[in-house]
Amino acid sequence: MNTTALAPSVATPASTPATQYDAVVIGAGVAGLYHLHRLREMGMTVRAYDAASGVGGTWYWNRYPGARFDSQAEIYQYWFSEELYKSWQPSERFPAQPETERWLNYVADKLDLKKDIQFNTRIASAHYDEAQNRWNITTSQGEHIQAQFLIACCGMLSAPLSDRFPGQANFKGQIYHTGLWPKTPVDFKGKRVAVIGTGATGIQVIQTIAPEVGSLKIFVRTPQYVIPMKNPKYSAEDWAQWGAQFHQLKKRVRETFAGFDFDFDAGPWADKTPAERTAVLEKLWEDGSLALWLASFPEMFFDEQVSEEVSQFVRGKMRERLQHDPDLCKLLIPTDYGFGTHRVPLENKYLEVYLQPNVETVDCKQTPIERIVPEGIQTADGQVHEVDIIVMAVGFDASSGALSRIDIRGRDGRSLKDQWSKEIRTAMGLQVHGYPNLFTTGAPLAPSAALCNMTTCLQQQVDWISDCIAHARQQGKTVVEATQAFEDAWVEHHDETAAKTLVVKTDSWYMGSNVDGKPRRLLSYIGGVGNYHAKCDELARTGYPGFDMR
Ligand code: NAP
Repeated sequence: MNTTALAPSVATPASTPATQYDAVVIGAGVAGLYHLHRLREMGMTVRAYDAASGVGGTWYWNRYPGARFDSQAEIYQYWFSEELYKSWQPSERFPAQPETERWLNYVADKLDLKKDIQFNTRIASAHYDEAQNRWNITTSQGEHIQAQFLIACCGMLSAPLSDRFPGQANFKGQIYHTGLWPKTPVDFKGKRVAVIGTGATGIQVIQTIAPEVGSLKIFVRTPQYVIPMKNPKYSAEDWAQWGAQFHQLKKRVRETFAGFDFDFDAGPWADKTPAERTAVLEKLWEDGSLALWLASFPEMFFDEQVSEEVSQFVRGKMRERLQHDPDLCKLLIPTDYGFGTHRVPLENKYLEVYLQPNVETVDCKQTPIERIVPEGIQTADGQVHEVDIIVMAVGFDASSGALSRIDIRGRDGRSLKDQWSKEIRTAMGLQVHGYPNLFTTGAPLAPSAALCNMTTCLQQQVDWISDCIAHARQQGKTVVEATQAFEDAWVEHHDETAAKTLVVKTDSWYMGSNVDGKPRRLLSYIGGVGNYHAKCDELARTGYPGFDMR
């Protein structure tokens, strides 16, 4: 049985008369929910569409075992309502997927959003009609909608790489991509299970199912630097204390490098002795959060020597946990890229899984996966690894993928998918020149494409877009479009900023290198969330220069 029901429905030609809205929002996740709320509050007619049967976006689809976020609950929050913040009580510092999905349902219900969301509906195409200055939109159900504004809140990790290997359809057992996990629980008890992929997702799956499975075969290609998560429970008193800091936190997350409440406050690396540096790293390691990565020494992103020393620190910690087993250390401890040059996962006893007697590894660098066969996974050495269940934790066509799988056509019929297949460009991740009245969140070349506490960055983008639309309407303008010159200047600044870092030297989804043929460019703006926010605020304050309003 193959349970991977993955292919998006194809749009049928629109035959029905168009339903009219001021704005259509694509997606009902963190960004889409808030956008629907903001635009409705502005008095606009808005409808949101989501392929899922409920709200949540990422938190709807990624219901795999062990899914949880690794921004602390006190900052993975909406900031537009103090009452909302205080009235939801997270159970722990890093809540798991079911709780986050419940939270987003709570938000949607509290704001009465669901009546304006159409579920089980994928947006198939959106073509801009220049004569009318409106978007013609079709859905997977064959509906035809017209809207002045098209607001893409599609998520930066919502295009799963589900058809990764030839032969998947022939597999006799069950095969699941983590980003399309079924609602009915998967029974791993006593089963022979394979996990392909050891990114943040694979790590969470592996550590969670390891105690349950009969045997586990882990297909490792690129190992990860990992940090043990500390996840204390939160009591009502704890939450009241966070609530009392609501305004400080709200201000703080907008100013820091990554939209967290911590920042690079340790002082310059060069001013410290080796012992002082280690003391800083030890203290942040003990925090059990992403602080070691995003609040230690920014020099690790620029300076090969610093990067190597911080990497050595983390490697030492990992070696101890692997009991200095030479084979495991070789397979699981990264040596060919620096700590933090791609996403650092938090984990809970992940490395210890490899010490279990019923766990085996396959080194995919030595023996790449060739295909899936009815009995299991065949590697390049001809071996067939027989299993009952395959978990594909193989990642996503990040940031650009969600938009380029929709047939979006702007002025003169230009296709976003075609353009982005050659070069991925945006105007601050908010618009793309040539696509009037299309606004984007979580899109390439903004921090929200990857390098951010997502709730911080998505809300900031929603607010900016909403304010921009309000401004245009006040001016009696009907069209907003980033100019070519503005977009060019942003792309240049983005690339210059990225080129100074070591991140561009590491292959990962951050660079688009996980998808064959995807043009290489750092997807996320790396100039810092605080800087990005300040630039956006400046644009708004000065009447949106670079955005042609007509
Ligand atoms: P990912 O980081 O892209 O990892 C995909 C994994 O699959 C990598 O180990 C990759 O190896 C492997 N892979 C892909 N194709 C393969 C092949 N043909 N053969 C063998 N291995 C293959 O994807 P992800 O783990 O889903 O994570 C994506 C992002 O989601 C994270 O970086 C994070 O931002 C987010 N996330 C967040 C959380 C959280 O908040 N805690 C949890 C999960 C995910 P290579 O690296 O060698 O390509």
